[in-house]
Amino acid sequence: MTTCDVAIVGAGLGGCFLALLLGRSGRHVVVVEQGPTVPTAGADFVKRPGMQVLARHGLVGLVERHALKRDIVRYYHDGEPIQECRYPDGFLIRPYRELVEVIYSSCAMQGVEFWFDSQIDHLAGDGEHVEHLSLADGRELRAGVVIGADGTRSAVRQALGIDKESTSYPHLLRVATVPLTASIAQLNRLYFSSGGWFSYLYPVNHDQARVFVGLPAGEDGATFGAGAPALLDALRGFVTDSPDAYDVLGSASWHAIPIAAMRVSAYHKGNAALLGSAAFACHPMTGMGMSYTLHDAEILAEIICTAEGDPKLLEKMLETGYEPRRRMHGELIDYGDALSSTFPDRGAYLRSFRQDLHVFGDTEPIGEEFVKVMG
Ligand SMILES: Cc1cc2nc3c(=O)[nH]c(=O)nc-3n(C[C@H](O)[C@H](O)[C@H](O)COP(=O)(O)OP(=O)(O)OC[C@H]3O[C@@H](n4cnc5c(N)ncnc54)[C@H](O)[C@@H]3O)c2cc1C
Repeated sequence: MTTCDVAIVGAGLGGCFLALLLGRSGRHVVVVEQGPTVPTAGADFVKRPGMQVLARHGLVGLVERHALKRDIVRYYHDGEPIQECRYPDGFLIRPYRELVEVIYSSCAMQGVEFWFDSQIDHLAGDGEHVEHLSLADGRELRAGVVIGADGTRSAVRQALGIDKESTSYPHLLRVATVPLTASIAQLNRLYFSSGGWFSYLYPVNHDQARVFVGLPAGEDGATFGAGAPALLDALRGFVTDSPDAYDVLGSASWHAIPIAAMRVSAYHKGNAALLGSAAFACHPMTGMGMSYTLHDAEILAEIICTAEGDPKLLEKMLETGYEPRRRMHGELIDYGDALSSTFPDRGAYLRSFRQDLHVFGDTEPIGEEFVKVMG
C-alpha cells in the first residue's frame, strides 16, 4: 500500500496542473493515468482567464514560448462576414498535448509521482470518505484527498455515486489537421450556414492548421461517407473567404469528435472532488473549458493546502469554496447550449452571442465593446 496526501486520477490539463500546484506546496501527490502518456489530443485555445491563472503561477512564459497569439476571430454567416470578436490581450493557440506536457514536465521538479498505464478498479471507504484506491493491477493507494480528473466518463465520479446528465447536440463535429495556407495564417475564421453547418479554420503552428466541420447529424454519412467532393461542395456554399483551404481539405483525414453538454449533481463528496471534464462539459465553441479548469484547479489546491489534512475542514471548504463553481459552469453550459441552437439563424446568433463569456469568461464584467458587428 502506497500512502500519499493527494491522489489524482487523470493526467490531463486539470490533473497535471493541480498536481503541480500541490507539489509546489510540498504535498506528496500521486497521479494515476490510464494511458501511457499525458493525453495526445484535445483543445487548442487558452483564453484570457486561463492565461491569467498560468501567469499567477509563473507558467505563462513557458506556455507562450512556442504558442501562436491571436486577437481576432471573424464570424461569417452564409458566406458573409457578420462580426469580429476582439480579444484585448489576445489568446494563445497551443496544441493540447504540448500544453499539458509543459505542465507535466514542471511536475517532475516537485516530486509528483505519475503512475501511467494504471487504472482504478474501485474506491474503498465508508460510503462518505474514500480511504484508498485499488488499481486494476492490484496496487493500492491510500490518500487523504482523492481528485477525479479523469474526463467525461470519470470512473471516480461513478464510484462516488455522483449523477451526471448529458445532452447531445443536433450536429456532429469532425476535425482535420492540414498544411497551413495563407488565408488560415492570416485570420481565424468561423463560418456558419443557415443549413446548420459550421466550420472553423485556424493555425496551430507555423506549418499546420486545424479545420473543424460541424454538420447536422443526419448529413454526416452522405457527406463524409461519400468522399472529398461531397464535403468540398457543401463547404463552398458558405466557406467563402478561405479559397486556398480547398487545396488542402480534399486530401484531409477527418476524425469524428464526440461532443455533448454534461452537468453533474455535485462536485465533491467527503474527501473526494471532481475536476475538469469529469465535472462539466460545455459546447466547444465557448472555448473556455480549459480556462475554467485551470481556475478550478487553483481553487482546489488552495482548499487542500488550507485544510492541512483535516477532513472536516476540507469538506466544509469544498462545500463553500468549490461547489459554487458548479453554478458558474452551469452558466457557461447554458450559454453554449443556447448559442449552438442559433447557429443556423444569423439574427438569433448575433443576439445570443455574449462577448463577455468569450473574452473574459466568469472572471470580469466587460467594460467596453469588443465585438464589431459587420454589414
Ligand atoms: C472538441 C473540443 C474542443 C475544445 N476546445 C477547447 C478550447 O479551444 N479551449 C478550451 O479552453 N477548452 C476547450 N475544450 C474543453 C477542454 O478540452 C477541457 O476543458 C479540458 O481538456 C479538460 O481537461 P481534463 O484534464 O479535465 O480532461 P482530459 O484531458 O480529458 O483528461 C482526462 C485524463 O483522464 C484519463 N483517464 C480517464 N479515465 C481514467 C481512469 N479510469 N483511470 C485513470 N485515468 C483515466 C484520460 O486518459 C485523460 O488523460 C474543448 C473540448 C472539446 C470536446
